[in-house]
Amino acid sequence: MADGGGLAAPDGAERLAAVCAHLEEIRADLRDGPGGEHGPVERVLAAAHGGGDVVAPLAVLHAVLQAGGDPQGLDGYTDHAGAIRGLRPAGISTTRAEQVYLCPAGRCARYWWPKAAAPVPHCAISNSTLRRERL
Ligand SMILES: [Zn+2]
Repeated sequence: MADGGGLAAPDGAERLAAVCAHLEEIRADLRDGPGGEHGPVERVLAAAHGGGDVVAPLAVLHAVLQAGGDPQGLDGYTDHAGAIRGLRPAGISTTRAEQVYLCPAGRCARYWWPKAAAPVPHCAISNSTLRRERL
C-alpha cells in the first residue's frame, strides 16, 4: 500500500487511454514484434468492451511491447494521458467556457482539447467519437 501508484483513478485508466489514443500505432508495433499478432491488444479491447477487468490484459500487452524492443512498453504511449490528474492541466484558463472531449465509454483517462478544423477523435474502446463535456 505504500509503494505509490495507487492514487491514479480507475485501475488501468491511463494505460487504457494510451490504447484508446494510439491503437493503430500499438497494432503496428505488435505486428513488427516477435509475436507478430494483435492478440494482446485485442484482448484489452475485448475486456474493455465487455466491462471486464482490463488491468491484467493491459499488463500482458505492456510486457509484450517491452519484449518487442520498446523498453517503455505501454507507458511510452501515455504522453498526455499521464498528465491529467483531475482534468485541470496547468495553463488552461477557465475564462472561457472550456470544452473537453472525453472517452465516451468512461473507461479510460483519455481527453482531447478541441482544435479548430480537427475532427473529433474516435475512441477505440467504445467505437464512437469522444463525447463533449463542459468544464
Ligand atoms: Zn477511450
